[in-house]
Amino acid sequence: MIIQTDNLVIHCVDYRIIEKLHTFCNNKFKKYDLLTIPGCSLKLKDDMYNYCKENIDTLIKLHNIKNIIIIEHENCLAYINYYKNITNTNEIIEKQDKNTNILLNKLKIDFPTLNYSNYYIKLDGNIISY
Ligand SMILES: [Zn+2]
Repeated sequence: MIIQTDNLVIHCVDYRIIEKLHTFCNNKFKKYDLLTIPGCSLKLKDDMYNYCKENIDTLIKLHNIKNIIIIEHENCLAYINYYKNITNTNEIIEKQDKNTNILLNKLKIDFPTLNYSNYYIKLDGNIISY
């Protein structure tokens, strides 16, 4: 049996964004699966890439996933903790953009038929689409 979910949203665990992120996803995607990991692309781009890939493989089979949506967020503490020399929001955004692109490029090689999009959610709930 396959459940048609279509969308997999990959995001950080931060409680400050969860409710706003779900509101956005409910309005935008209706049905979606979630892959939640501290720091999102920061972790998934390299040391946890296989974990990410295996879960996408599974969700393609079980839920017929067609779209991958990566959502980074404002003031991610995983980034601040990892990059000790980061001092402002713009520097975090630069790192998040870079790491999201690394992850997207890897995924596009392993899953070339899927569609990809990425967003940035601010702590006030505003969403920036890329
Ligand atoms: Zn975070």
